[in-house]
Amino acid sequence: SAQAMGGNRFRFYAPEMNERAMQLFTLESDLARAIEQGELCLHYQPRVNLESGAVRSAEALVRWRHPQRGMVPPGDFIALAENSGLIVPLGAWVIREVCRQQRAWIDAGLQTAVVAVNLSPRQFQDEHLVDEIRRALSDHGLDAACIEMEITESTVMDNAAEAGCKLNALKSLGISLSLDDFGTGHSSLSRLRHLPIDHLKIDQAFVRHLCSNAADAAICKAIVDLAHNLQLSVIAEGVEDAAQAAALRSWGCDDVQGFHFARPMPPEEFARMLAPEGQLAGLLPLAA
Ligand code: C2E
Ligand code: MG
Ligand code: MG
Ligand code: MG
Repeated sequence: SAQAMGGNRFRFYAPEMNERAMQLFTLESDLARAIEQGELCLHYQPRVNLESGAVRSAEALVRWRHPQRGMVPPGDFIALAENSGLIVPLGAWVIREVCRQQRAWIDAGLQTAVVAVNLSPRQFQDEHLVDEIRRALSDHGLDAACIEMEITESTVMDNAAEAGCKLNALKSLGISLSLDDFGTGHSSLSRLRHLPIDHLKIDQAFVRHLCSNAADAAICKAIVDLAHNLQLSVIAEGVEDAAQAAALRSWGCDDVQGFHFARPMPPEEFARMLAPEGQLAGLLPLAA
């Protein structure tokens, strides 16, 4: 009978499922402690301007130095944090840490670069978000212009009515805003036009096969044109080789981020690029 089979199936699959559930459970309780115990850190991935070769901004990407598991990438814990609600304190830590770091770099006499912070859907909806950012900026005596928030296209478009208000509130702080993973969600172009955003980030899925897939190339080019027609700048992410960079540059893409130029790096390493004589000398072979 079906019931008997169900019983069998349960016995057959149970050990595996329990193991997976246990792993997630321990990771979740570990994560709650990780924030308090200082196991999280940020890496910074430079964005390179395709016209000048200069780095004017970077994206902050969270990492977890787990005492047993070593470096855990965000792909392994952000969704977990999002589902459990831990993303709210985690995200608050990221915002404060970026502000603390910006202050330290300014005090050390380094050049300033805008640092972009990723916001998950739950953080974006959190009613304290705007106040938290305002407080983090003022506690560290920072100009809001040094911070950017990255919000994914789907986060914004999934609850468009409230999203518009929230984006306006964020924008009124003086920070800049990017639409992350652009092209993977479903944007209404008429709505896009009314959102107070500054940059579109072309998702790496379209960049990956740029040189071999005509449709992907057409999409990248179309996003660049769309952004420029809306007076936004464009950042392509996931640029892994010179040919991709050259194609993007020929279409007028403003900035790029990707392993071809630099991987996300610890703050000490990024600081060397911000040194007065550092100016990213020779980092970037722009031509194909
Ligand atoms: P994202 O915001 O789209 O970030 C880009 C991801 O692409 C990063 O992965 C980055 O390391 C990776 N990447 C950059 N260049 C290349 C490249 O040339 N090739 C390839 N294959 N990958 C590249 P990462 O650091 O593992 O982060 C993954 C995602 O986790 C991020 O996607 C973002 O959604 C989320 N995330 C990271 N840090 C935070 C955070 O502080 N808060 C929140 N809420 N989410 C975060
Ligand atoms: Mg991002
Ligand atoms: Mg992205
Ligand atoms: Mg992405």
